[in-house]
Amino acid sequence: MLEPVIGLEIHLAIKTRSKMFCSCAADSFGEEPNVNTCPVCLGLPGSLPVVNQDAIEKALMFSLALQCSVPELTQFHRKNYYYPDAPKNYQISQFDQPIGEGGFIEVAGRCIGVARCHVEEDAGRLVHPSYADHSLVDLNRAGAPLIEMVTEPALRTPEEARSFLNQVRAIAQALDVSDASPEEGKMRADVNVSLRRPGEPYGTKVEVKNLNSFKSVQSALEVEIRRQTAILEEGRHVTQETRGWNEGGQKTYSLRTKEEEADYRYFPDPDLPPMRFNAVRLDSIRTKTPELPEQKRERYLKLNLKVADAALIAYDATLSRFYDAAADLFPGGGQPLANWLVSEVLGHLKSSRLDLASSGLTPGGLVALVRLVEEGAISGRVGKELLPEVMAGKDAEALVRERGLTQITDTSTIERLVDEVVSSHPAIASSVRDNPKAVNALLGRVMQASRGQAKPDLARTLLQRRLGLD
Ligand code: ADP
Ligand code: ZN
Ligand code: MG
Repeated sequence: MLEPVIGLEIHLAIKTRSKMFCSCAADSFGEEPNVNTCPVCLGLPGSLPVVNQDAIEKALMFSLALQCSVPELTQFHRKNYYYPDAPKNYQISQFDQPIGEGGFIEVAGRCIGVARCHVEEDAGRLVHPSYADHSLVDLNRAGAPLIEMVTEPALRTPEEARSFLNQVRAIAQALDVSDASPEEGKMRADVNVSLRRPGEPYGTKVEVKNLNSFKSVQSALEVEIRRQTAILEEGRHVTQETRGWNEGGQKTYSLRTKEEEADYRYFPDPDLPPMRFNAVRLDSIRTKTPELPEQKRERYLKLNLKVADAALIAYDATLSRFYDAAADLFPGGGQPLANWLVSEVLGHLKSSRLDLASSGLTPGGLVALVRLVEEGAISGRVGKELLPEVMAGKDAEALVRERGLTQITDTSTIERLVDEVVSSHPAIASSVRDNPKAVNALLGRVMQASRGQAKPDLARTLLQRRLGLD
C-alpha cells in the first residue's frame, strides 16, 4: 500500500496600503493596467527600495501566530531570474534568514509543521489578449507584498491539504493579515507530492503549480497521486519535475524537469540592510494579535453554542466579527443570537444571494429583534417574518409598534380564540383522545387566528385545558 506525502507552498497577499518597497497602492484588483507603478517597482536604474514596516508587522504577527520562531536577524535576498513580468530581472525575497521558522498549524487534531514564512515581492502579470499576436505585461501587482509559507511534507491526503488551506485562510483573515481570497489571486498554492510505503524514506516528489482554488488543489493532488501510483506499480520511477494543472481536462502536465530548474544565484540585497527585531517589538505584536479561530471556537463552546454553530461562526472572520459585536450588545443572549445568525440570517442571505456586509443588517439591528423575541414581546414566528425587513435596515421595535404585532399574552383573549377554533372544528376536537396529534392541528389554527401573535406555550396550555387533556 502506497502512502501520499504532501507539502504546500502558499502565497498570501499581505493586506497593506502600499507595496513592499515603494508607496504605490498594494491592491490594484480590477484597476487599469500599469497605473500603480513608479520607478522603484518598475526597476528603473537609480531607484531605491524602502521596507514597508506595516507588511513586516503583519508577517511577524502571522509567523508568531503559527508559533514560528523569529530569528534575531532577517535579510532580504535577490532571487535572480529573467522573465517579462519581473522588470528588475530579480525578485526581492528571503533565503536563509526568513522572518519565521519552525511553526505549526493544527488540523483536525494533527500538528502540521510550517518550515518557514518569508516575505517577498509579487511579480507582475502577463496578459494574452485574443486580439493581438503578442503578450502584454501589467505591472500593477509587481512589488506587492507577499508572505510565502512552506509546510513540512507532513500532509497525508488531498482532503487534509484542503482543510489545511481552509485553516490558513481563516487564520490570515482573523488576523487581518490578508484577505486570503483565491478568487482575487490573494491566496495561491503550489503543491508537492510523492508516494512511499509507510515507514520508508520519502519518494521522489513532483510539484504542481498554478492552482487557483482549494478545490483544484484537492483535484490536482488526487489526479497526481493516481498518476504516480500507476508509474510505481509498473516498477518505473517518478521523475522529479514541475507540472502544471489543466482544470478543464483534470490533468497535470510536465512544465520542466529538475535539470531545467533555474539557478537563482541568491545574494543579500545590498540596498536593504538586515533587520533586527527586539523582544519589546515582538511582545507588542503578540499583545496586539487578535483571537485566532480555534480560540474563538473554544470560547463559543463555553457560551453553550451548538458545536456546529461555534465552528461555523469562529472560522468565518466576517461572521465572527458580526457575532461578537452583537453578543457584546446583548449579554446573556449569545446562544439565541447564534441560532438566529446561523439558521435564519444565513438562510436568508443565501436565498437572496447577498452577503452579510452588503445586506443592511447591523449587529444592533439583529440584537433588537432577537431581544423582542427572547423577552416575549413578540413570538418567534413574528420575529422570523420581520427578519427580511430588519435585514434591509429597518428597526424591529418600530415595525412592531406600527403594526401592533406585540405578542398576545392575555389569557382571556387567547381563550376566546381557543373557543372559536374548538367549536368550529368539532370533529378534530372530538378525535384528540385517540389521536394526540390532533391538538397540534387545532393549535395551528389558534395561532393562525391570532395572526401568529399568541404566545405559543400559553395557547397550547389553554387549548389542552379546554379539551380536558390536562
Ligand atoms: P526544494 O528544495 O525542491 O524546493 P524543499 O525541501 O524546499 O524542496 O520543499 C519544498 C516543498 O516540497 C515543501 O512544501 C516540502 O514540504 C515539500 N516536499 C519536500 N520533499 C517532499 C517529498 N519527498 N514529498 C512531498 N513533498 C515534499
Ligand atoms: Zn511603485
Ligand atoms: Mg525550496
